[in-house]
Amino acid sequence: MRLKPLTIIKLGGSAITYKDSTPPKVNEVNLSRIAKELRAYRGELIIVLGGGAHGHQAAHSYGYADPNSPKEQLLKGIPPIRHNMAALASSVETSLNKEGIPAIVISPFTSVTLRNGLIHDFPINIIRKSLENGLVVLTHGDVCFDEETSASILSGDTIAVYLAKELNAETILIGTDVDGVMDDNPKLNPSAKHIPVINQENKESILSKTGPSTNTDVTGGMLKKLSELLEISNQNREIIIFNLTVPNRLNLLLQNESTICTIIQS
Ligand code: ADP
Repeated sequence: MRLKPLTIIKLGGSAITYKDSTPPKVNEVNLSRIAKELRAYRGELIIVLGGGAHGHQAAHSYGYADPNSPKEQLLKGIPPIRHNMAALASSVETSLNKEGIPAIVISPFTSVTLRNGLIHDFPINIIRKSLENGLVVLTHGDVCFDEETSASILSGDTIAVYLAKELNAETILIGTDVDGVMDDNPKLNPSAKHIPVINQENKESILSKTGPSTNTDVTGGMLKKLSELLEISNQNREIIIFNLTVPNRLNLLLQNESTICTIIQS
């Protein structure tokens, strides 16, 4: 049995990068603030990065959003996507280490394989050992070899959900650039209303009002996030989508205090 609770925090690409900037740029202001908000947390911690500007633009330009892209084109995209994601992960690692957080990067590409975009093999031994030895695991959305299509994108959201299931995480905090789930895409409809709780009663109607990202995003935006999170919700697990671009919300959630967010209940 674990002595400390495990929390998985997804840092959305929309919060830690300038998602539409070319070349990709890290949002250093948000990043150093987030690192400070994480400093006081004492449980086991996995931090998962979304791709943001570093992942999605390169993935898009090498055809990862198109199911008919030739295998050779996808393979050519591996070095630039890997380069960008390694650079992003290294920036985050530096910010966390500066705050005394013992984070180490574990990149999915080196051990995970996919099949038609879904996880085929995802060894977690080193992740488990790292946590047991007091390290904070920092992993990220990545390009991975795919048994069928040559290569596909593994999203940060999918990693967070997979690790939550495999390692039985008590808390999953999904940080993004909106206040949670709304009854319409708030980037397209400014009067969209915030939904504080999603449960069995309202989940179908909310899923029908939820859509993809408005940025260049090859991994599905809010709809995919929500669908995957609903699959792992249970009574012993706290799942929250919140706005990581607003200072102090992550800090409040880590202290079990209330703030604006969407709670996903089973
Ligand atoms: P991240 O990069 O932080 O993972 P995404 O861009 O993948 O975030 O997903 C968040 C985006 O999903 C929001 O910025 C918004 O444009 C879009 N979205 C679509 N429908 C909704 C909805 N019903 N509620 C909230 N956001 C939504």
